[in-house]
Amino acid sequence: MSLPVPSALSPSKLSSFTSCALQFRLANIDRIPEPPTQATSRGTLVHAALEHLFTLPAEERVRAVADECVDIAYAAYRDDPEWTDLDMDDETEAAMVAEARHLVANEFLLEDPTAITPMGIELKLEVEIGGLRLRGIIDRLDLVDGDLVVTDYKTGRSPSDLHARARMQGVHVYALMCEKFFGRRPVRVQLLHLAEPVAVIAEPTDQSTRGLERRLHAVWSAVESACETEDFRPRQSALCGWCFFQQWCPAFGGDPERAAVDVGIRDRADAGQEPLLRV
Ligand code: SF4
Repeated sequence: MSLPVPSALSPSKLSSFTSCALQFRLANIDRIPEPPTQATSRGTLVHAALEHLFTLPAEERVRAVADECVDIAYAAYRDDPEWTDLDMDDETEAAMVAEARHLVANEFLLEDPTAITPMGIELKLEVEIGGLRLRGIIDRLDLVDGDLVVTDYKTGRSPSDLHARARMQGVHVYALMCEKFFGRRPVRVQLLHLAEPVAVIAEPTDQSTRGLERRLHAVWSAVESACETEDFRPRQSALCGWCFFQQWCPAFGGDPERAAVDVGIRDRADAGQEPLLRV
């Protein structure tokens, strides 16, 4: 017996597999759905508000409309199970919306939205590189003097430097996907940490791109091999404290084989798609 190999790699799957193979298996192969958290739902709300902001004509993207963008996104999201399942009282819900407003306002401390020319917002891309399929959604792809710039927003605080590095790697993967798809390498990638707020900026090079391609193929080979041998080992780290799968993790006395049964998945074909969690 072997486990089915996922159809594609994404930045979140890359990060998941390299930080803990068991977590990757439970989320992406067994497809055990992770319930929303305040952090993921706040992330979704902020991304939706920023999407709305950047679909406005450039001259209208001013600080005065930021709260209105959050309100529009909140009105569309407040009945979604991802939000209602949090079962928040009025005070907690109001605090969540206030935090979202604060994070969207911080965008204006990092950039001037009126000066940005987005050519894609929440841009879905899929490319193949030497037999490896990559899939992802880019928060924003801009045109700057005819060149491409990749922007990704982060609404949570990084629990560690290691996690921050993994997030930056994800933006470089998006740049590589753009290069394959559009035939042009983005001149810049930027990770906008809205909570701090701080922008982390890098410029992809021939060397960094070659290194990333090698790493992606190495990780993909490791995923295929783990599926073949059904060997997905837990790797304990600071991230365990945030891990929904801890209840089935052998490192904490659990049994991963119980996970699908406990959540009522009879067969992997019954499982839903990988959820898109935004933090
Ligand atoms: S609790 Fe830690 S070791 Fe176990 S699956 Fe989650 S991240 Fe991996």
